[in-house]
Amino acid sequence: MGNSSFTESEISKFKEVSYKLGKNPSLVQAAGGNTSIKSDKSMLIKASGTWLINSLNKDIFVEVNLPSINQKISNEHDDSFEEDIISKNNLRPSLETSFHALINYKYVLHVHSTATIANAISSDSKNELEKQINEDFIFVPYYRPGFTLTMGIKKLIKPEIKIFILENHGLIVAGDDIEETYNLLLNIHNKLDKTRNNKFTNLEVTEGLEIDNYRLKNSEKYRLFMSPDENLYSLFSKSFYPDHVIFLGPGIPTFVEKIKLKNLLVI
Ligand SMILES: [Zn+2]
Repeated sequence: MGNSSFTESEISKFKEVSYKLGKNPSLVQAAGGNTSIKSDKSMLIKASGTWLINSLNKDIFVEVNLPSINQKISNEHDDSFEEDIISKNNLRPSLETSFHALINYKYVLHVHSTATIANAISSDSKNELEKQINEDFIFVPYYRPGFTLTMGIKKLIKPEIKIFILENHGLIVAGDDIEETYNLLLNIHNKLDKTRNNKFTNLEVTEGLEIDNYRLKNSEKYRLFMSPDENLYSLFSKSFYPDHVIFLGPGIPTFVEKIKLKNLLVI
């Protein structure tokens, strides 16, 4: 790393946790999610476009000038923070750098936890999440990722709270101990995942539905996709969270009948 802001042991534990988050597809998909570690004068954060799963085998982190970034946040000055880069590896800091700087804990871990997102996309998410998480957290209404989101978090932040649920986006967990922070993140994800599974209700299934070029998975949890309910198809065609748009476009291609699918597949 070539800097004295962090100890070697801090860095290696931080990278190990970043890797463990990155290799769990329920928490991080592709280049999504980001992690950071702070010292008094700087912050090491995942670089834009890099993948957390590569934390141990590639140089994916950028060191940035923390006081300078915090000054910009105080002044509400949106910026790419390129002039705040300290490291010399030609990487640019993540789009989500500003909220990492804003949250005043040594470690900030942000993931696109599928269980969190599944529970944070309904109109009554906040109340539902309160029942399920059963500890203090900040519910952040949806804001566009980047500086706008950071300004939204700034309005709600409380120094003692380490858990942030981002509506239609994901989960942030902060702390001064890397293991504790990682375990808290897993704990929140698992609580929400379990609740979702327990509440799963079987839907009416179209018997013998056959679709050319597709094989429907014969498992309870995929039965949702076999439902004849047209409202579900209409729902699937919307976007629920930023990665949805990045990976799937404005909506998941949906179809209700074999004939319609055939028309879609221009082979
Ligand atoms: Zn995110």
